[in-house]
Amino acid sequence: SESLTVAELAKKIYREPSEIIKKLFLLGVMATINQVLDKDAIELIAGEYGVEVEEEIKIDTTDLEVYFTDDSAENLVERPSVVTIMGHVDHGKTTLLDSIRNTKVTEGEAGGITQHIGAYQVVENGKKITFLDTPGHAAFTTMRQRGAKITDITILVVAADDGVMPQTVEAINHAKAAEVPIIVAVNKMDKEAANADRVMQELTEHGLVSEAWGGDTIFVPISAKNGDGIDNLLEMILLVSEVEEYKANPNRKAVGTVIEAQLDKGRGSVATLLVQNGTLKIGDPIVVGHTHGRVRAMVNDKGRRVKEAGPSTPVEITGLSDVPQAGDRFVVFDDEKTARQVGEARSQQALAAHRGEKSIVSLETLFDQL
Ligand code: GDP
Ligand code: MG
Repeated sequence: SESLTVAELAKKIYREPSEIIKKLFLLGVMATINQVLDKDAIELIAGEYGVEVEEEIKIDTTDLEVYFTDDSAENLVERPSVVTIMGHVDHGKTTLLDSIRNTKVTEGEAGGITQHIGAYQVVENGKKITFLDTPGHAAFTTMRQRGAKITDITILVVAADDGVMPQTVEAINHAKAAEVPIIVAVNKMDKEAANADRVMQELTEHGLVSEAWGGDTIFVPISAKNGDGIDNLLEMILLVSEVEEYKANPNRKAVGTVIEAQLDKGRGSVATLLVQNGTLKIGDPIVVGHTHGRVRAMVNDKGRRVKEAGPSTPVEITGLSDVPQAGDRFVVFDDEKTARQVGEARSQQALAAHRGEKSIVSLETLFDQL
């Protein structure tokens, strides 16, 4: 047809009607959700989203990013922050992750069953915080490659007896490029050679000035080894979360990112997903990277079976036809047919790309042998 209402157009291009109304307003048109738009107006709006209008609206539904749409303010509620830990090798990243997990996760959990799924949640002052238990650099690399954001806050771990080192600077650059707020954890304060002032001084040269020195970077002295300062660090994370107001809409189909995935002998393809918006449910038809399926079983970071997972929740799922890759996006669809179509199209694209890559690789190999 030659005309659509604002609501109909919004649905076709996977946007919220309120967003279309705002766009129209900025173009000088006052519109309501039931307003009928003519062909010119439709083309104008669609063009703003890089969508072609010919006989029909043509949107590339195999590009999973199109489903990562914004929600209207009234549908948004608070969600836990997603935190990554970065820093130089041996400065205590793993020890800190373990320390937070051991002191917080086991509280009130029967037996404290903690299986490793690549991410975990803790509760501090009644609020949840999600930690990505994967190497921070990997998370950032994927994030940057795709222009996608998975981390809200970076904890920069700097050993107080060693100071700023090359990977510390690298971490700062990653976080800055991604515009992710940094909290500095000055670690190993239990050591005799610890010198927090030196760390503060050295970080000043990289634009991280402590609040104590008139800047706006939070510094927290900790000992990941004996647990000192961990509570304070978690409180600072909550403080930043409060300021940044991380929000999501739990009442929509889930979208998010793969944290880890592997092939399990008994269970088949097993993937840890971070739900970034919406709620993931058992039975959901899903496309994950270049594979698809139906969510068969879900297990949370405590090793418990769950029926659904809301925003910022890490969850391990089975039911996919193949093994996706860390950093792949996932999207839940209304029906299995659409999920299968999108999934199969994406898997064919991947195959074609793979074939292309292969021939280049073999050429290179050939040159290597010459
Ligand atoms: P990563 O490479 O950043 O993951 O560092 P690790 O967590 O593996 O820690 C490197 C070494 O520093 C290990 O031997 C830890 O036991 C030690 N370590 C980590 N945190 C502390 C701390 O707060 N105090 C002391 N004394 N040692 C620590
Ligand atoms: Mg480590």
